[in-house]
Amino acid sequence: MEKQLKELKSHLMEAYDLGRAGAVLGWDEMTYMPPGGAAARARQSALLARLTHEKSIDPAIGKLLDELRPYEESLPYDSDNASLIRVTRREYERAIKVPPQFMAELYEHISKSYNAWVTARPENNYKALEPLLERTVDLCRQLADFFPGYEHCADPLIDFNDYGMKATTLRSLFAHLRRELIPIVQAITSQPPADDACLKLHYPKADQLDFSMEVVKQLGYDLNRGRQDLTHHPFTTSFSLGDVRITTRVNEDFLGDCLFSSIHEAGHAMYEQGIRMEFEGTPLAGGTSAGVHESQSRTWENLVGRSRSFWEFFYPKLQAKFPDQLKGISLDTFYQAVNKVQRSLIRTEADEVTYNLHIMIRFDIELALLEGNLLVRDLPEYWHVRYNADMGMRAPDDRDGVMQDVHWFGGLVGGSFQGYTLGNIIGAQFFTHALAAHPEIPNEMSQGKFETLHKWLIDNVYQHGSKFTATELIEKVTGGPLSIEPYLTYLRSKYGELYKL
Ligand code: ZN
Repeated sequence: MEKQLKELKSHLMEAYDLGRAGAVLGWDEMTYMPPGGAAARARQSALLARLTHEKSIDPAIGKLLDELRPYEESLPYDSDNASLIRVTRREYERAIKVPPQFMAELYEHISKSYNAWVTARPENNYKALEPLLERTVDLCRQLADFFPGYEHCADPLIDFNDYGMKATTLRSLFAHLRRELIPIVQAITSQPPADDACLKLHYPKADQLDFSMEVVKQLGYDLNRGRQDLTHHPFTTSFSLGDVRITTRVNEDFLGDCLFSSIHEAGHAMYEQGIRMEFEGTPLAGGTSAGVHESQSRTWENLVGRSRSFWEFFYPKLQAKFPDQLKGISLDTFYQAVNKVQRSLIRTEADEVTYNLHIMIRFDIELALLEGNLLVRDLPEYWHVRYNADMGMRAPDDRDGVMQDVHWFGGLVGGSFQGYTLGNIIGAQFFTHALAAHPEIPNEMSQGKFETLHKWLIDNVYQHGSKFTATELIEKVTGGPLSIEPYLTYLRSKYGELYKL
């Protein structure tokens, strides 16, 4: 079986390398490429996507997987080789259902749509995006139809990102969470709002970038295997386990944007950097699901980066960097400012408590678009109506309404938002277990030491890459299934104290 396994790995490595070469083009497109490069880049990305897809559906892989089945069955379920064969088979069986020509069409469209969004958003020109979004919805329905037998047409799309999850399961999970969150939001927003004026002063770009780099380095983001660049909508991308890059953006009139998005992306990147090197070039060399990925970005951003312990260490450093802006602002005031809870319009700036309400709006919209119960042309107004109902606010325009997020314009409709809320839930589950194993973690964080937490996450979560599904990993780490209780306990304790509820 040695020979077949070696052959399988060499096929996988070629598909992996083509895919990561496509990622380099994608990263460049979203960071440095001048607008004039757009048309050729769309074509090149589509070509690479097609070649990657063709490689990954090579019948030779199917033949090798068949030959390797007895070997796989002779191994323990969690052995590296059995896991490699199992995960490769799952991905292969999914990939062969989608014709390469369709993938090329989809990628070309995505690239066009992303570039249109970059121009149309600042111009508040939803009309320019409308036909593109209609086509995206149409392509997503076609994509789902390659997987007949689904219960909801979003299910195959959700499955790409959060394997094993379904629209109905998520609907009831979100409804449950919503019932618990609304009273917390109401209790907090009936208190006087936290004073966050100190965040809204002028903070020069270069200093913000310096400080955010200092923070992510200290947390454990490895710069020998990573770097940070500027973009419109921050993301993390991996070209190999030795090169995992993050991006950020700076708002000079708001301190939170650059810092917390840098920490967020560094959380994604530390997950990828923590994967065992032996998995390089295989389908195991990535995070296991959008939910688990997001659990790590949000752990570092919120459970760590918005904790009191974290700021006990970093606040004096921040004050030294921005002495004029933060003169006379106490740690308490600053801590309250970065944890201000308020109903708001922009998802990426939302606090930990109201954040999920933004996701639920988007999740419902995605399902309605795919079902055909909501038309693309009615979307901007529906967005406003829904924000009015859920948040009691209306965006002044579509730029900060339906066009604020890149997802539907730079990717897919369906399956792209549930991961954030799953991430909040899973992150709190893992973090609770890390704290139970190492009660010294908060105290260490207040001294700028993050190794104990980082190492626990590597040992229990990161090193496994995609070896286990999210469900298996949650079971392995916590001994139980997905549960919203640790997340609610965390919110009630932290915000109960902050807002004296
Ligand atoms: Zn993220």
